Amino acid sequence: MISRLDLDEKGAGSPEGLVSRILKAEPSLRVPVPVEELCGKLDISSVEYEALEGLEGALITTSERESGIILVKETSHRFRQRFTIGHELGHFLIPTHMPNSDGRFLCSRADMLLQHAEGKDRRTKMEVEANRFSSLLLIPPPLLRPRLKDDPNLNQLVKLASEFEVSKEAMARAYAFYHTELLAFVLMHSGIVRRIYKHPSFPCVAVDVGRTAPTPSGATSAGMITDVKECLPDHWIRVERGRPAPKLYEQTIGQQNNYSMVMLWLEKAKDNSDYENFDREENLTASQRLRDRIYRSSK
Ligand SMILES: [Zn+2]
Repeated sequence: MISRLDLDEKGAGSPEGLVSRILKAEPSLRVPVPVEELCGKLDISSVEYEALEGLEGALITTSERESGIILVKETSHRFRQRFTIGHELGHFLIPTHMPNSDGRFLCSRADMLLQHAEGKDRRTKMEVEANRFSSLLLIPPPLLRPRLKDDPNLNQLVKLASEFEVSKEAMARAYAFYHTELLAFVLMHSGIVRRIYKHPSFPCVAVDVGRTAPTPSGATSAGMITDVKECLPDHWIRVERGRPAPKLYEQTIGQQNNYSMVMLWLEKAKDNSDYENFDREENLTASQRLRDRIYRSSK
């Protein structure tokens, strides 16, 4: 059974290092990952559900980190609460994360969505790392990969999200990263692009966050999922002139409150190899490369 002693090893302080040690110490870990139980083993004395105005979660601890208390917004969806618990556990375990002067980490809904920290301040970096830790812990790549054998499909993504007990958005990020096909996900609200998640080898999505999505993409009502359909690639990605256009497929899911998510699937073909290699090395962040390496070697 894991204890924090298992995590005390040089170089184990990154989200990837910590999660791979947790998985090693808990080889029989099953989905949904029992995140509260793990908190108990890792010196979190309690997880408490409270009103938390303006916050999604908080961690109360000291700079020495003997123990910690995690607070979670009581009205949030259970899957979001699980992500929050994983996020706060990340703050607790990552040794470089420092609480504010009252020994607290106070984390908003916006903090839980931060994915990139390049050139950002220290606090943003901590939030990004806590999010990466939570994603890896709740959707352990060694448990996700074997489930990604079939063609990508939002119906499968929805099933996986409920199996792992995470939001569809959290599953979409992992799905894009670990599926062997080239995928991107575009989240929209009332037709405006809000967030984009893509595999590092997927070409740059030619749509800006905050702008109108290029097509209504078969907008559907909440819970409805369209068929996978071939679409015009230049709606979504930059297609070089004089080159054969790659085959691109899209599929849309309608969600609550005018949200929707489009899955883009770029067919891998010989003459697409330029797209596959497009920005592979240059645009991979160091952490993505590391994450890729760890979980490839742990398989
Ligand atoms: Zn945080």
